[in-house]
Amino acid sequence: MAQTATGTRRPELIGGIGDRSAAAPGRAAARRWLPDAVLGAAGVGLGAAVGSVLTSETRGQLTQAGGVATVVGSLTGMVGAYLALLMVLLISRLPLVERTIGQDRLARWHRRLAPWPIALLALHAIAITVGYAQAARVGPWHEVGTLLSAYPGVTIATAGLGLMLAIGLVSLRAVRNRLSRETWWLIHLWMYVALAISFVHVVVLGPSFVVHPVATDLWDAAWAAAAGAILAYRFGLPVVRSVRHRLSVVDVRTEAPGVVSIVCKGRDLERLDVRGGQFFEWRFLARGLWWQAHPYSLSSLPRPPYVRLTVKGVGDHSKALAALRPGTKIAIEGPYGAFTNDARTRRRVALVAGGIGVTAIRSLLEEMPRTAEPVVVLRASKPEDLALRAEVADLVKERRGSLQEVVGARDEIELDAKALRRLVPGIAERDVFVSGPESFVFHVVETLRAMGIPDEQLHYEAYAF
Ligand SMILES: Cc1cc2nc3c(=O)[nH]c(=O)nc-3n(C[C@H](O)[C@H](O)[C@H](O)COP(=O)(O)OP(=O)(O)OC[C@H]3O[C@@H](n4cnc5c(N)ncnc54)[C@H](O)[C@@H]3O)c2cc1C
Repeated sequence: MAQTATGTRRPELIGGIGDRSAAAPGRAAARRWLPDAVLGAAGVGLGAAVGSVLTSETRGQLTQAGGVATVVGSLTGMVGAYLALLMVLLISRLPLVERTIGQDRLARWHRRLAPWPIALLALHAIAITVGYAQAARVGPWHEVGTLLSAYPGVTIATAGLGLMLAIGLVSLRAVRNRLSRETWWLIHLWMYVALAISFVHVVVLGPSFVVHPVATDLWDAAWAAAAGAILAYRFGLPVVRSVRHRLSVVDVRTEAPGVVSIVCKGRDLERLDVRGGQFFEWRFLARGLWWQAHPYSLSSLPRPPYVRLTVKGVGDHSKALAALRPGTKIAIEGPYGAFTNDARTRRRVALVAGGIGVTAIRSLLEEMPRTAEPVVVLRASKPEDLALRAEVADLVKERRGSLQEVVGARDEIELDAKALRRLVPGIAERDVFVSGPESFVFHVVETLRAMGIPDEQLHYEAYAF
């Protein structure tokens, strides 16, 4: 099952132990406080949001007809809108946050948070309607009619809420798993529209529940900053980088059945501040592909003027890349990801790749120094599926590490605790980097946790979609 491999070189893309591999563990240690700081700041913001509503209410308002429902409506509206703001910030691609926390963790936070603002804003609409109806001593449906006909801002907000609820339903895992990445992405774009029109409602009506002018200004500034971050980092920066580097396809090579490497050429790649293990969102400007961007890791560090990605065909986009023509222009967004040598806390490492997860492991390995004594575990169903195996073997050899290939059907060979201990000597004293399909990554990471390896030594990139 386990063996060591050797192979041939592709001159322009194979890295030896270069300057970048000397990076010692701990560069990120200085930034390890960032996730806690981000969560702390989010908590302070939540406190301020709740406080701004509560301090606006008087005891007299609460005892009036409909007072309790209206206060509940104000609170749920404020907290729901605040959590929606956080959701937007989590995916705004702020570079420092991306690099330290990692896009997959941010996306997971975003996914976990998402049901809350939607539910709270729905509750806000119900509670405010009930509160106003009780105050006016009319039925709730009568009040719905009054609010929709007399206040254009409410009509707009109701449309926004309807959109959010629809997107929330589509986001349920059972529905989402049936959609292609691009359909999912297009539907998701509507969330920006929903949030924008809901914000119009706040502007038109004024955040009536916030009486302090400073709080109102802070609220407006926070939304303006979130919109600015989205525009700058999700749209502006990618355009600037794409124009600056002018990437285009120069070669498409088969690496394994259904797996191709795409070699791209560009300008000024020395200025592309990218680390081994990171990924870009790639937009190939060819017919049928230009409108969608997909994440693919670098499968080797840039060798200016070249850079390379390696792709396994699983769906429309990834399969179409095998037919790319030389000269096809490329727009990029990134680099993203915290799956880098910066995350290392121990001297020695183990790198574990499931299937096409070898891409991130391959470029990460280039940055590992000899002192990291890397043990690389490659997992595949069949020997011919071990893409980039020869290159990985060369890099491992240069670092005097060891390469373990685990080949066989999933139901026959499992990477359980016993196997991992046998394959990786001293695994508990190493940082372990795991990449590949989501199910593989989560299985290995859970096994490592159960073996008592602390979270700070575990780093992973799940190729989820
Ligand atoms: C951070 C990151 C880095 C990535 N790096 C690489 C890389 O270096 N090389 C690479 O080949 N891929 C990589 N991926 C995965 C790649 O982005 C997806 O495979 C691709 O976007 C799928 O798009 P599609 O249109 O081809 O498939 P879709 O039409 O969107 O999906 C078709 C079907 O395949 C399933 N599917 C999608 N992706 C996978 C997957 N990875 N494994 C199993 N089933 C899947 C979907 O559930 C869907 O049912 C990475 C993903 C992430 C998040």
